[in-house]
Amino acid sequence: MIKYVGQTEIKEKHRATCHCGAVVLELTLPNGIENPRRCDCSICRRKGAIVGSVKLSGIRIVSGAENLTLYQFNTHTAKHFFCSHCGIYTHHQRRSNPTEYGFNIGCLDGVNPFDLGDVVTNDGVNHPADRT
Ligand SMILES: [Zn+2]
Repeated sequence: MIKYVGQTEIKEKHRATCHCGAVVLELTLPNGIENPRRCDCSICRRKGAIVGSVKLSGIRIVSGAENLTLYQFNTHTAKHFFCSHCGIYTHHQRRSNPTEYGFNIGCLDGVNPFDLGDVVTNDGVNHPADRT
């Protein structure tokens, strides 16, 4: 668990926003940032975000739900959300674990994801749900 990123303390209820501020989320992060990672699947390699994990109950949309656009592809299991105004990815419901959201660590108030240093890269090309 990561309780500080640079000088920024990760609060139990931490605010996250898209770039333009049309979407405001409240994340419940009692253990700080858990399992931060990059991923090389077809969508993550394009968006380039470092993603954290939170239970589905751990994201509350404070304002701007109407500004979130849902994007789905391939098996249409995962739900990828982004702001329809500024285009920033905020969070997604995972295909690998639908009881979790991934969220954009760069959207957390005061957090510079580059302060995390090296982050593991998930093997998204060989998705666990595609292995038999
Ligand atoms: Zn926005």
